[in-house]
Amino acid sequence: MKLILLGPPGAGKGTQAEILSQKLGIDTISTGVMLRTAIREGTELGLKAQGYINAGELVPDELVVGIVKERLSQDDCKKGFILDGFPRTTAQAEALTASGVEIDKVLSLEVSDEAIIERLSGRRECKACGTPYHVVYKPSSAGDKCSVCGGELIQRADDNEATVKNRIHVYHEQTEPIKEYYKEKGKLVIAYGQEELADTTREVAKALGLEA
Ligand code: AMP
Repeated sequence: MKLILLGPPGAGKGTQAEILSQKLGIDTISTGVMLRTAIREGTELGLKAQGYINAGELVPDELVVGIVKERLSQDDCKKGFILDGFPRTTAQAEALTASGVEIDKVLSLEVSDEAIIERLSGRRECKACGTPYHVVYKPSSAGDKCSVCGGELIQRADDNEATVKNRIHVYHEQTEPIKEYYKEKGKLVIAYGQEELADTTREVAKALGLEA
C-alpha cells in the first residue's frame, strides 16, 4: 500500500500513520519529523528550514521534494509506505506524480479548526524519537517519558497559539487544494477525526477498506 495522509495540523495524522504502519508493516515517511531531525542535527537543510517552521510557513518545495525523493528511492519503500505531511502543495503533488511514484490512496483526515486549536495545545512528542502523544487523548503509558524509548516528552516550538493560527491558514490556502487534485485521480478517501482515538482509528480503517 502506497498511502498519503492529508489533513490539517493536529488532525492526528502522525498517530494514525504509526497505527497503520504497524498494521500494514510499512514505514511512515514524515517530512515534519525529517525536518525537525535536520534542525536538531544542525544540517544545512535544518538551518534553511528552521525559520519557516517556527513561523508556521511551509518550507520551500524544492527542499522538501528533494528529501522525499531520496527517501522513496530506498529499497524498503518498494513494498509500500505512508507519507505523512507530504505533499503539502499542488506543486509537491505534481512533483511526486512526475517522479513516477504510483500512489494507491490518499486519506484526508478531517477535523474542524476549533478542534485543532484545542488538540495542539495538549500535544507532546518525544524529544528523542518523535513519537506523538496527547495529554488527554493519547497519554504515554510511561508518564512524562516516552513509552517507546524512554525519551523526554516536549511541546513542539511551532505548537504555540500564533504559529498554530498561521499553520491552519496555510493549510486551507496551500494544502487543501491537493484534495481536488487526488479526487480527480479517483484516489481520495475521507475519514472524520473523532474525540476518542479508537473511534478515529476505526473511521480510518473503514475509509481505507481495512479490517478495524
Ligand atoms: P508537521 O510535523 O507535518 O506538522 O510539519 C511541521 C512543519 O514542517 C510545517 O508546519 C512546515 O513548516 C514544515 N513541513 C513539513 N512538511 C512539509 C512539506 N511537505 N512542505 C513544506 N513544509 C513542510
